[in-house]
Amino acid sequence: MSAAGQTHRVAIEGGVSFDLPPGEDTLLRAALRAGVGLPHECSVGGCGACRFELVAGELQTLWPQAPGLSERDRKRGKHLACQSRPVGDCTIRVRCDDSYRPVVAPVRQTARLLARRALSPDMSEFTVQVSAGATFRPGQYALLYPLGTVGARAYSMSNLPGADGVWQFIVRRVPGGAGSAALFDTVAVGDALPLDGPYGHAHLRDDNDRDIVCIAGGSGLAPMLSIARGVLAQAAGTRRVRFFHGVRTQADLGSTQVLDGLAGDRLSSTVVLSSPEAQPAWTGRTGFIHEEVERALAPDLARFEFYFAGPPPMVQAVQEVLMLRHRVPFEQIHFDRFF
Ligand SMILES: Cc1cc2nc3c(=O)[nH]c(=O)nc-3n(C[C@H](O)[C@H](O)[C@H](O)COP(=O)(O)OP(=O)(O)OC[C@H]3O[C@@H](n4cnc5c(N)ncnc54)[C@H](O)[C@@H]3O)c2cc1C
Repeated sequence: MSAAGQTHRVAIEGGVSFDLPPGEDTLLRAALRAGVGLPHECSVGGCGACRFELVAGELQTLWPQAPGLSERDRKRGKHLACQSRPVGDCTIRVRCDDSYRPVVAPVRQTARLLARRALSPDMSEFTVQVSAGATFRPGQYALLYPLGTVGARAYSMSNLPGADGVWQFIVRRVPGGAGSAALFDTVAVGDALPLDGPYGHAHLRDDNDRDIVCIAGGSGLAPMLSIARGVLAQAAGTRRVRFFHGVRTQADLGSTQVLDGLAGDRLSSTVVLSSPEAQPAWTGRTGFIHEEVERALAPDLARFEFYFAGPPPMVQAVQEVLMLRHRVPFEQIHFDRFF
């Protein structure tokens, strides 16, 4: 909530101003709801893309230790827009860019948990419903606020938008993680769950007809599933999807069952195990997913449009293969790092 239920005005030095209404939680989310292109990526304190300088006014910092800011950044007076809440009118210095303006205006709503389905020992599909239609682009994410957890958690949708108001997520239980534990252990079917979204720029583009490569590391499966579903749902479409899913061991294979529902002659999928166990014997691909993508598609990687999601080291390895080794143009690369 903004202080004392008042609206505060945020001015961007040399640029536009926008309001932070009562009840708004962060400067970033207020900016995006106002259609301002404030740079950002994860929205939850991990990446540092929403750094800015405070020129005048006062802020409350929601998560002072957020890893998105280095010690050097802090010493130089930098703040994260996703962890800042103005306590009065303020002026900030940040370079905005229209490419960060939301493609769908994010809205805060109350969702209800409709169902939870186990896919593997540590991954489940969560289906929630809101009273309005589910409006987002395939590949985007929402912020969930599991009860008893400090701060928001970002989860990518795995389904397609629709008038039924259904949003689906695939969540991995992170050992020692507060938010994922709350989703698995505390939130029950029928419970309310605050949902804010959609966010994210790694959404499906339909401004070209290049074939698509989806690369999912672990729970990066969710947005890749949505992207693939979006492409395959276009009845008259001709774009093909090459789907790569990387998991660690055979125990994780259950999560790949969601790919079965995607079968079609425009899709081909490859599952890669990075640490296969001796038993039961695995005869499929092994190794790191970025190596498998290169092995399967080189030398003509630049003819594809790439979407990928997963842990930051996996995203970095894929970026290096695409951009440094194969000169895939930046406009053909869309990704989310799961901080
Ligand atoms: C864009 C994006 C999309 C994602 N999509 C998925 C997905 O589809 N499926 C999936 O399983 N995971 C996804 N993640 C990861 C997910 O958001 C969580 O990081 C993960 O579930 C671990 O959360 P946790 O609460 O269990 O662990 P914790 O270790 O408790 O929390 C991890 C995350 O919560 C936030 N956080 C922690 N403490 C605080 C605090 N005090 N104040 C504010 N924020 C805090 C931080 O962002 C941190 O990275 C995504 C992440 C991002 C950035």
